[in-house]
Amino acid sequence: MKLILLGAPGAGKGTQAEILCKELDIPTISTGNILRAAVKNGTPTGLKAKAFMDAGQLVPDEVIIGIITERLAESDCEKGYILDGVPRTIAQAEALEKAGVAFDSVVSIEISDETIMERMSGRRVCPDCGASYHVVAVPPVKEGVCDKCGAALIQRKDDAPETVKSRLQVYHKETEPLKAFYAQRGLLKSVENQPTVEETSKAILYALGR
Ligand code: AMP
Repeated sequence: MKLILLGAPGAGKGTQAEILCKELDIPTISTGNILRAAVKNGTPTGLKAKAFMDAGQLVPDEVIIGIITERLAESDCEKGYILDGVPRTIAQAEALEKAGVAFDSVVSIEISDETIMERMSGRRVCPDCGASYHVVAVPPVKEGVCDKCGAALIQRKDDAPETVKSRLQVYHKETEPLKAFYAQRGLLKSVENQPTVEETSKAILYALGR
C-alpha cells in the first residue's frame, strides 16, 4: 500500500501515520522528521532548510525531491509506505509521478483552521526520535518525557501562534491544490477530523476499505 496523508499542519498526520504504519506494517516517511534530523546534525541539507523551517515557509522543491527520491529507494519501502508531509506542492507531486511512483490512495484529513490554532499550542515533540504528543489529547505516560526513547519533549519553534498562522496560509496556497490534483486521478479520500485520535484512525481505515 502506497499512501499519502494530506492535511494542514497540525491536522494530526504524524499521529495518524504512526498508528497506520503499525496497522498496515509499512514505514512512515516524514520529510519534516528527516529535515529536523538534518538540522540537528548540521548537514548541508539541514543548513539549507533551517531558515525556511523556522519561518514556517516551505523548503525549496528541489531539496525535498532529492530527499524523498533517495528515501523511497531504500529497501524498507518495497512493501509500501505512508508519506506524511510530502508532497506539499504540485511540483513535488509531479516530480513523484515523473519518477514513476504510483499511489494507491491519498487521504486528506479535514479540519478547520480554528481547531488547529487551538491544538498547536499543546503539541510537544521528541527532539531525538520525532514522536509527537499533545498535552491533552495524546499525553506521554510521564509528563514531558518521550514514551519511546526517554528524551525530554520540546515545543517546536514553528508551533508558535504567528508561525502557525503563516504555515496555514502556505498550506491553503501551496498544498491544498493537491486535493484537486489527486481527485482528478481518482485517488482522493477526504476524512473529517474526529473528536478523538482513535475515531479519526477508524475513519481513515474505513475510507481505505480496511
Ligand atoms: P512538518 O513536520 O511536516 O510540519 O514539516 C516542518 C517543516 O519542514 C515545514 O514547515 C517545512 O518548512 C519543511 N517541510 C517538510 N516537508 C516539506 C515538504 N514536503 N516541502 C517543503 N517543505 C517541507
